[in-house]
Amino acid sequence: MTMGQRLRHLRRSRGLTLAELGMRVGRAPSALSLLENGRREPKLSVLEDLAAALSVPVEELLRRQAPSRRAQLEIALAEAQRDPAYAELGMPHLKVGTRVPTEVLEHLVKLAGALRDQRGKPTATPEEARAANAELRAAMRERANYFEDIERAADGALQSAGYSGGALSQGMLLSVVSHHGFSVRYVQDLPNSVRSLTDLRNHRIYVKQEPVGTHSPRAVLLQALGHFLLGHEAPRDFADFLRQRVESNYFAAAVLMPEKAALRFLADAKEARDLAVEDLVDVFSVSYEMAAHRFTNLATRHLGMPCHFTKNDSSGIIFKAYESDGLVFPADPDGAIEGQRMCRKWAGRQVFGASDRFSPHYQYSATPSGTFFCVSQVDSRADRGFAITLGVPYEHSRWFRGRETPTRMRSACPDGECCKRPPADQEARWEGMAWPSARAHSHVLSALPAGIFPGVDEADVYEFLDHHSDS
Ligand SMILES: [Zn+2]
Repeated sequence: MTMGQRLRHLRRSRGLTLAELGMRVGRAPSALSLLENGRREPKLSVLEDLAAALSVPVEELLRRQAPSRRAQLEIALAEAQRDPAYAELGMPHLKVGTRVPTEVLEHLVKLAGALRDQRGKPTATPEEARAANAELRAAMRERANYFEDIERAADGALQSAGYSGGALSQGMLLSVVSHHGFSVRYVQDLPNSVRSLTDLRNHRIYVKQEPVGTHSPRAVLLQALGHFLLGHEAPRDFADFLRQRVESNYFAAAVLMPEKAALRFLADAKEARDLAVEDLVDVFSVSYEMAAHRFTNLATRHLGMPCHFTKNDSSGIIFKAYESDGLVFPADPDGAIEGQRMCRKWAGRQVFGASDRFSPHYQYSATPSGTFFCVSQVDSRADRGFAITLGVPYEHSRWFRGRETPTRMRSACPDGECCKRPPADQEARWEGMAWPSARAHSHVLSALPAGIFPGVDEADVYEFLDHHSDS
């Protein structure tokens, strides 16, 4: 489309008619018209002839940028008219000839843009978001949360930068990034709605020097790189956005805790009956959440150990959950777990009541789906308190540090008598006598903001890039 626009622009600026240009390159005017209207792709030889006839290099015709504001508007309106939302209005196709004034085009393009924004991707509702989560979890479970292609991509990225083993140094991290053509800029004024921002024109990745939520700057940088090495494109819908986020997180973890190095470390710890997530944190300099999640990638596949993982806040609301060990999570009728409140007897809630909540909390939990050994820790790097829990079936507790804990809890959930319903005598005393004022629900439970990248403030992003790409 743009090539055609450029061709027309150059032809007119040289005062040539279609017939005159056709004469110079030995083509029928109708054939050139097809090219100009973007209905035909030119052969390279034709392009060369045209460029010569117009005395410009071939690249001039192929540049992606529209040749003028007018041409840009013509392209935009042509594209808008192909949009289903526009077509639904049932208006006849508007042929944009030279007699349509530029101001009219400006108006139409702006209106079409507003129409697209309004009718465009609907906001992901909490229901859609939870359904997407449930689907993704099923896919992860099917592969024991081990993604071979991402492991390979991470390994390839490391090898190409000359990595030779062990934990990843800062220097090695930067060579992984620069080997793939990107440079890193640490900034203070990154828009609040993003954790990193990649300038695709100048191949720069902008990150903050301090952690974003539970994500270290190292992890954020690799998550950004992961999108490109894994071939992600602008997400089609919320489910796609979610899948990409899981994959880029996986990639970051697989680079920071390379499979071979992490496995050797875990196998030794298992041999010594001293498995502990906090050691992964120390050795590989990653967040507790990332370490625990990485454990789930490798444990089932390589150590033959089913397991579960949860992330919940102090009120027990689940933000992330994964299991391959048969633990039954609370779920809504559609099978969604995020946003549900976990049993108050579970380790993820007990840790908040522990005397030292920043040390690992160990416990055995007897549940209707079996007995599990669980280790919970409140991630102190998070801006709010999240408990990260890793659990395994009882018979695998023997490989773990903390297995001698005397703490044992019994959970009957999802039976309401377990902890969801107040004891009968309390209920009798207080029923109708309490008026709680509820706190607003958290982000994962509310409707997600619309946009290609949900919740990202595009105005902030473009302003940031404008500002930084000059410097
Ligand atoms: Zn319960």
